Amino acid sequence: MKLANSPVEQIHVAGHDVFIKRDDLLHPQFSGNKARKFLYFYEQDFPTVKKVLGYGSAQANSLYSMAALCQLKGWQLEFYVDHLPQLLLANPSGNYAAALALGAKVLPAPVSGGEQIASYLQQLAANDPECLFIEEGGRMAEAEYGVAKLAEEIADWYQAEQLSQLALFLPSGTGTTALFLAKYFKQHELAIEVFTCPVVGDAAYLQQQFDQLCANRQWHPTIVAPAKKYHFGKCYRDFLTLWRLLNQTGVTFELLYDPLGWMTLLQTAPTLAMPLMYLHQGGLLGNSSMLPRYQRKYPQLFSD
Ligand SMILES: *Cc1c(COP(=O)(O)O)cnc(C)c1O
Repeated sequence: MKLANSPVEQIHVAGHDVFIKRDDLLHPQFSGNKARKFLYFYEQDFPTVKKVLGYGSAQANSLYSMAALCQLKGWQLEFYVDHLPQLLLANPSGNYAAALALGAKVLPAPVSGGEQIASYLQQLAANDPECLFIEEGGRMAEAEYGVAKLAEEIADWYQAEQLSQLALFLPSGTGTTALFLAKYFKQHELAIEVFTCPVVGDAAYLQQQFDQLCANRQWHPTIVAPAKKYHFGKCYRDFLTLWRLLNQTGVTFELLYDPLGWMTLLQTAPTLAMPLMYLHQGGLLGNSSMLPRYQRKYPQLFSD
């Protein structure tokens, strides 16, 4: 099965030529940065494991990717959520529906709050060799294994193109992908600079995430704070407008992270005299639950 060597394409957006690393094309089900972060679990042998314990949002890309991982490995996924929205229960869509179709069990957590759920599941798994606990969104040291492979592909492409500099942009949730990419390029002394923006919290939160994963700040990516504060998962007119502009290139992006990721690129590009690359981290299935939310909030933008 092919879980590597996603293609690089070039698109033209708002006056910039941008190379796109198409990790959305890795595999129909196991794609994007979650496939990279979970590659370790796919490739390594876990002879006693029968069940994966995960948690997060019922709409999360990581729910779907974990369900795909478990199906490939013959494991049962139990995914715990703080809250299961009524609308979603009545009308399963997007990542949630696709994960159920892959056999995942999505269950209400017996405790509330992310940290409490994590330590509850961690403890369950620690006492049961049949259970494997995976951190929310793949925020863990094991993610470095697959993200380093992604970095190696980008480095190979960069060398084949005979570039001497490259600016790589991607939006961050936990920051795990951006951090391990930057670390790889710094360790291999390549002039590939990683730029990222916080999508889930603010810049201070993202810095904290980086510090937890890697104490050496010289290996951290450059954080670009968005010009204005946006709340994670909310619908913004600016996001939809930019998303539509991006889609005119023929490449479809997603609506949770990509609008801010591209805003960061467009904000920073004029100050950089070097080739630009954007990492497409997948997550397209989430659009089928995000778009109806946009349509309910801004019906006038869907009037044709
Ligand atoms: C999970 C996800 C992210 C965030 O990745 P981190 O490694 O947590 O920063 C970004 N984009 C998409 C499409 C994702 O699914």
